[in-house]
Amino acid sequence: MTGGSRSRTIRFMTTVSDDAVVLARLDYSETSQVIVLFTQRHGKVRAIAKGIKRHTKTRFAAGIDLLDIGHVVVSVRPDRAAGLATVTEWKQTRSLSGLREKLTRIQGAQYVAEITGHLTEDWDPHADLYDAMIATLTALSNSLEPLAAVVAFQRRLLESAGSGPRLDACMSCGSNDELTHFSSFEGGMMCRNCEPGQVEKWELSPKTLDLLRKERITDATPDMLVGAFGVLNYHIAHLMGREPRLASKLVPTVRRRTVE
Ligand SMILES: [Zn+2]
Repeated sequence: MTGGSRSRTIRFMTTVSDDAVVLARLDYSETSQVIVLFTQRHGKVRAIAKGIKRHTKTRFAAGIDLLDIGHVVVSVRPDRAAGLATVTEWKQTRSLSGLREKLTRIQGAQYVAEITGHLTEDWDPHADLYDAMIATLTALSNSLEPLAAVVAFQRRLLESAGSGPRLDACMSCGSNDELTHFSSFEGGMMCRNCEPGQVEKWELSPKTLDLLRKERITDATPDMLVGAFGVLNYHIAHLMGREPRLASKLVPTVRRRTVE
């Protein structure tokens, strides 16, 4: 809307109702927290949950925990970008208690939440990524090998963010022979001939590259999964501007990126 009498229209708060996962909780005041939600139809939404920290009875008496899955109602200004939304209702709809049974499961889930929070924009819908996240959290809650689910989600998130790595040819010369290094800046592989000219790079084994080229992560050994996690985490760290906090907890042996 531009100019004229319409610009003087009084705008009221509107409400948005959606399914959501809790990606983060940040203290806001003595009684309130900012909840970062990843919603099915509205993307990432930041909202204040007032009174959530009071020990008195509130509508959020049951609390809103990290990685909870539920149905949320928030009130928002017509100009959504102008400020935080406010949580008016929250009802947990699913309980993935299995997530908390093993440390690697919950760390995998926390990693997934952390990278999603950083690589998605507020109010930018990604319904497919939401569905992938629910599937990933469900898989993690009963998984013996959490890393396979995490690696699959890393790939989905990168694709969704428009940063899926190109793995079939050298970004510099186009050759598909002896692709030995990945460059986050270039967004794909470098060949043996071209990689010496690239400072920012990550060496990966032919097995890891094969795994990453597959449509689905199957028949991967733990070493291959760690290799795949490492290179995708390296790419994600570049896009985030820092190392994801949960990366070294989830995979203690993961190399850190060396070029800032
Ligand atoms: Zn090349």
